[in-house]
Amino acid sequence: MKDKFYGGILQSDALVKYLLETSAYPREHEQLKELRQATVDKYQFWSLMNVSADEGQFLSMLLKIMNAKKTIEVGVFTGYSLLTTALALPDDGKIIAIDPDREAFETGLPFIQKANMAHKIQFIQSDAMKVMKEFLAQGEEGTFDFAFVDADKENYINYHEELLKLVKVGGIIAYDNTLWAGTVAASEDDEMEDYLRGCRGHIIKLNTFLANDARLELAQLSIGDGLTLCRRII
Ligand code: SAH
Ligand code: CA
Repeated sequence: MKDKFYGGILQSDALVKYLLETSAYPREHEQLKELRQATVDKYQFWSLMNVSADEGQFLSMLLKIMNAKKTIEVGVFTGYSLLTTALALPDDGKIIAIDPDREAFETGLPFIQKANMAHKIQFIQSDAMKVMKEFLAQGEEGTFDFAFVDADKENYINYHEELLKLVKVGGIIAYDNTLWAGTVAASEDDEMEDYLRGCRGHIIKLNTFLANDARLELAQLSIGDGLTLCRRII
């Protein structure tokens, strides 16, 4: 497994290696391993978009603690977090998985099928906002236990308003990449990759917004690239 595609915020390669090799990889599901490797083979650098194995294991445990049954996945890519979620849900669990990129989803699909998880997943090739509005129009308000948001960072703040309706009171909305490789704490003239600079402002704005949102309880975790859990309370 190539640790150079770990898209996390831990600054020491040795610590990343220790964490993954000691705790995460030995317990990673075989098809998750295969899906990650197929993603690295096809997408190289951008395979870092898959959640890390340790974050995946956290999500899995959270879903089980919550007894989550119905979830929405905003931003699928090749489906590492999607397969992780499917494996954590009961056999009659359901995931609405949205991404305009069908090719990436189909790259991971054989591993989802091999793990016997495809029956839990409804993939919708679309922009997420459109689907959220449609679901609300179809009376799906308050029907989701959990949402995992890992798509276009500039729209997280817009998805937030719709997800606060779609997720039930007591349910969780999880936003991924909220520490943005640590750049949320950098200054404007610090050196950083263009893709980091591009979305940094959106993530900073989101973090401040969520911290002040009285409709939810919040926990920002420094796992992976930063994961913010919002529990809908009203
Ligand atoms: N959650 C995945 C990684 C997702 S990467 C994992 O951990 O394995 C981000 C994805 O968001 C990309 O596949 C991209 O196509 C998707 N995306 C971008 N804009 C989107 C939009 N408007 N609606 C839904 N998905 C979008
Ligand atoms: Ca992510």
